[in-house]
Amino acid sequence: MTTEELIALSDNNIMDTYRRFPIVLVKGSGAKVWDSDGKEYLDFVAGIAVCSLGHSHPAVVEAIKKQAEILTHVSNLYYIKPQIGLAGLLVENSFADKVFFCNSGAEANEAAIKLARKYAHENMDRKYEIITMEESFHGRTLATVTATGQEKFQKGFAPLPEGFKYVPFNDLPALESAITDKTCGIMVEPIQAEGGIRIPDDHYLQGVRKICDDMGLLLILDEIQTGMGRTGTLFAYENYGVEPDIMTLAKAMGNGFPVGAMLATDKIASAFVPGNHASTFGGNPLAMAAGLAVMDALLNDGVLENCEKLGAYFLERLDELRKDHSIIKEVRGKGLLIGMELSVEGDDIVKECMNRGVLINCTCGNILRFVPPLIITEEDIDRVVGVLDEVMGD
Ligand SMILES: *Cc1c(COP(=O)(O)O)cnc(C)c1O
Repeated sequence: MTTEELIALSDNNIMDTYRRFPIVLVKGSGAKVWDSDGKEYLDFVAGIAVCSLGHSHPAVVEAIKKQAEILTHVSNLYYIKPQIGLAGLLVENSFADKVFFCNSGAEANEAAIKLARKYAHENMDRKYEIITMEESFHGRTLATVTATGQEKFQKGFAPLPEGFKYVPFNDLPALESAITDKTCGIMVEPIQAEGGIRIPDDHYLQGVRKICDDMGLLLILDEIQTGMGRTGTLFAYENYGVEPDIMTLAKAMGNGFPVGAMLATDKIASAFVPGNHASTFGGNPLAMAAGLAVMDALLNDGVLENCEKLGAYFLERLDELRKDHSIIKEVRGKGLLIGMELSVEGDDIVKECMNRGVLINCTCGNILRFVPPLIITEEDIDRVVGVLDEVMGD
């Protein structure tokens, strides 16, 4: 089948939920992917911050192959060995005491919202309201799209679940004055990713933590995009001197294999007892084997160090570019979660980069987002910066 035929068939049979670029990606290795016509691309999208170890990472491939041959799936009605292993590693390397496994980011946030409500129902006088941020992104299920502080994602889906309200990010006074006698928690991304790579001001997250402590509220950190090494530490909260009560993970957890998790302290997690929440596939042996291989690489292969070092280099190179191109308003980021705000729409630049064999993403219409695999080299960055320089005009 030709690429045109594949695209026609896709448009015919698959629901129209994505505006897709007209290429079919068929193969990947490290920071590179290839399309159905054999064209090579340097991939600075990485499945949107998912393939952090690079495509087809040998250790992850091997772990999935091996586990598939031993045991692919059993129910959570039984104990699952690789699940015990991955939970142990997550608990050992985070603030958390307990983990709940699921299959995606939205599911992890659903679990976090349910746990917060259940805990509050029993211990906080039945409070239920969760404050989230404007321009946040927490997922596409009804509860998580309601937690998402962006009207454009909610339009047409009313009635939405009750119990959410929004305040501007980086605004502690607004947050404080939004708290009511119904508020049980605050949910926030350490860095707003989909919302345009918005970095917290110094001490903002510490301020949020303090408000939670003073008012007896739960702090829920959505680390679905920032977690698993993306910002140069295993979890982004480590950069900001705060610890949450509940944290959610997904995206890079399985390097492409669908895995999500919701983590909490013992105190909060104790609100869940058998029957309160569940997932058929959550924590299944195959997903856990992938997750274990990812954690092993993150902790032992120098991935975090490379992310921090190359993130700083990339940010510096992009900022140099800003001096030569008036359409670049600002460059900002942490580790390899980097945004470039333009004074124009970013679509054409993304397309021109693609034509030249470089995949990048654009969010919010005018913010180029760079979330490459954490294993990239200076050479990869130089290539991307060179292509950007070429396509950006004056
Ligand atoms: C991607 C993302 C989600 C949603 O994850 P899905 O796996 O697409 O459901 C939620 N929160 C943040 C911060 C994300 O980046």
